Amino acid sequence: MEDNIVAISTAIGVGAISIVRISGKDSISIINDLFVGCDLTKVASHTIHYGYIKENDKIIDEVLVTVMKSPKTFTTEDIVEVNCHGGIIATNKVLKSILNKGVRLAEAGEFTKRAFLNGRIDLTQAEAVMDLIESKTDSARNQAVNQLTGKISSYIESLRLKIKNLLATIEVNIDYPEYYDIEQITIEKVKKVCQELEVEINQMIDESKNGKIIKEGIKTVIVGRPNVGKSSILNNLIGEDKAIVTDIEGTTRDIIEGNIQIDGIALNIIDTAGIRKTTNKIEEIGVQKSLNLLKEADLILLVLNSSESLTENDYNLLKEVNKDKTIIVLNKNDLKPKLTEKEFDGYNVVSTNTLSIEGVNSLKSKIKEIFNLEKIKSSDRTSLTNIRQLSLAEQAKKTLQSAIKGVNNHLPIDMVAIDLKATFDLLGEIIGKTYSDEIINHLFENFCVGK
Ligand code: GDP
Repeated sequence: MEDNIVAISTAIGVGAISIVRISGKDSISIINDLFVGCDLTKVASHTIHYGYIKENDKIIDEVLVTVMKSPKTFTTEDIVEVNCHGGIIATNKVLKSILNKGVRLAEAGEFTKRAFLNGRIDLTQAEAVMDLIESKTDSARNQAVNQLTGKISSYIESLRLKIKNLLATIEVNIDYPEYYDIEQITIEKVKKVCQELEVEINQMIDESKNGKIIKEGIKTVIVGRPNVGKSSILNNLIGEDKAIVTDIEGTTRDIIEGNIQIDGIALNIIDTAGIRKTTNKIEEIGVQKSLNLLKEADLILLVLNSSESLTENDYNLLKEVNKDKTIIVLNKNDLKPKLTEKEFDGYNVVSTNTLSIEGVNSLKSKIKEIFNLEKIKSSDRTSLTNIRQLSLAEQAKKTLQSAIKGVNNHLPIDMVAIDLKATFDLLGEIIGKTYSDEIINHLFENFCVGK
């Protein structure tokens, strides 16, 4: 890493202070050239200094400068952070004066990328930095912190260590093939350890599904024919008049999104345009959109008017939804009932109305129950939190299962070792022990500049 990079690390806008961060081997001397106050090249590491940033004999801003010397810094390189006044003009002027010194503007995520490439953090920790910045709930923040502190990394390292030991044992076996005993011991051991590993990887994958819920929330779609009370339910859940409630059928044309939290887990709610046969072109597009949303949803709230018998439209909807991820909401139970819970055997059903707070609470309780939110919330285990990590874990599981199959089918032990080595590498890829430049570049592009 030759060049020096600089970026504004705080959000752009007016605020009390902004931080301009520079990383690289010349960062201290570069800022020293612009700084009036003391000789920054002579100060101790991790100290803060008061002074001014000056360019062409003109004071640009009054600043506090933090000097952090390699290697105990975020990027492991020398880092200087200039705390300047938070106005957009002042901050940009400080940045510009540093750029004028030949420093390059950092790309998105480049500080974190350097931290990774210089071995300061692994890939899951780098991803956790972004998750932490983007976390929208306390549970998501907690999960990101766990990952950032290296919990998942050490867990994966422990799995890799087991495989490494196993591979060493196999190596001995291959080197001393004349001893039948060793081969027998090896096969038994390989089988036992592989089975243990399979349980552990399975568990990690299962827990990671909760991790996704913690991080991204539950994608929830409300669906039902017009006038059954979808908007009212949405309003009650969200607690504000976001959807417009009217008596005229088909008013909710647009897809409205709202966010609530249940036990610290985000519920991202989408109200659909409804699903019904229509000749209206615009409405047709809405219907198609709604059908797609049903497919992608984690949770479907299918609202029915319990004071009316089921209509053809209701039956069609019941056909469209996946039972396992659907709650049938029998709304308007304050009126004389025509539908009861009994008629929906095998479905998750909630009988409710939007006129009382109990109605909303019973719906929330059902959601908590289905997604086991109490357990998710209290679980402090770190899980894999994105598709990249999860798909590598799934692949590792497959190669491990192939190794187990190989043992069971009495394949030569060195063939089994190939699958084990692949499992070892795939687990390594999760934490970035092996990686391709393309993936790394793509990954850090999604970061914000200055991080
Ligand atoms: P949508 O078209 O499915 O979104 O239905 P709305 O939320 O717009 O509600 C349609 C009508 O039903 C409105 O007049 C609401 O006030 C009424 N409504 C909604 N929920 C209930 C309920 O639980 N009980 C009763 N009695 N009326 C309700």
